[in-house]
Amino acid sequence: MNARILSGRPIAEAIKMEVADEVKRLGGEYGIQPGLTVVRVGDDPASAVYVGSKVKTSEELGIRSEHIHLPSTVSQDELLSLIGELNSSNDVDGILVQLPLPEQITVTAVLEAIDPKKDVDGFHPINVGRLSLGEKALVPCTPAGVIEVLKRSDIPVAGKHAVIVGRSNIVGKPMAMLLLKENATVTICHSRTADLPAITKQADILVAAIGRAGFIKAEHIQQGATVIDVGINNVSDSGLAAELFSPEDLEKRLRAIENRGFTLVGDVNPRDAVEKAANFTPVPGGIGLLTVAMLMKNTVDAARMRRGIA
Ligand code: NAP
Repeated sequence: MNARILSGRPIAEAIKMEVADEVKRLGGEYGIQPGLTVVRVGDDPASAVYVGSKVKTSEELGIRSEHIHLPSTVSQDELLSLIGELNSSNDVDGILVQLPLPEQITVTAVLEAIDPKKDVDGFHPINVGRLSLGEKALVPCTPAGVIEVLKRSDIPVAGKHAVIVGRSNIVGKPMAMLLLKENATVTICHSRTADLPAITKQADILVAAIGRAGFIKAEHIQQGATVIDVGINNVSDSGLAAELFSPEDLEKRLRAIENRGFTLVGDVNPRDAVEKAANFTPVPGGIGLLTVAMLMKNTVDAARMRRGIA
């Protein structure tokens, strides 16, 4: 079997176009311009790239965006006080504090300080609770993006067995709740799961959110499954790249390692997935592209929900 490759790009573009249309409608009918404020603390290079892309995409879609960059020495009280100001500003519909944070700051204290109505990352306990209850909530962007990919690729979910490898608060757990909401039968696996392949092999839909390059192999995949690869790993070892990629793909990967020191690899062995799965999301170019699109959608949803607009 040669899996259908589920490219994230056209789906992310379609969502962004829908968001841009909604921004226009909110402006025309209500005189509202949704606003997103992204707070970055310190100088983590990956965070700078992520924040840059969030701000740029907001601007492209007509969302008012603001980037607040604080020094790595900022105290927790100073950060909480900034969040308090953003909570009470009527111009701000979405607040996102880019993780990771420096060690003097307790992440939960910060996430819980954000007004749940403006919590566009969907990490506040109120939104986590609402999602678990099956109520309307702001939902974490990456797992919400996975649902969009499944729906817009006409992959049936109801009644299917979905197995998620990974139980993080950011991906695995909300993913389970979203798949449950779509009426899948859901199993969550993690590092203490016994005989992982025996469970993942039962999956009609297998979601890998582990953080280990090429960890999911042929032995984990049921023939004809849909395999969603959420993992993003930097691989600098050309030997590992040679194991993971077919000769046609390998040349490009080795060039990336040579030029910038690494190539981006998911949690699934792509050669095995292409051979065994019916549908497979590539890395890069798959789920990763959906995260920012879903953040934009959450910002517009937050702007509407906060004002009671349908
Ligand atoms: P995380 O917080 O480190 O969680 C990893 C999960 O994988 C944990 O639940 C862990 O189990 C499980 N795990 C680790 N080793 C395992 C093993 N040998 N067998 C089974 N389960 C194992 O990671 P995360 O934040 O969820 O991220 C997961 C991956 O997704 C990463 O590659 C990350 O870069 C990527 N990601 C991508 C996006 C995006 O596309 N925009 C967004 C977020 C994350 P325990 O709980 O037992 O430790």
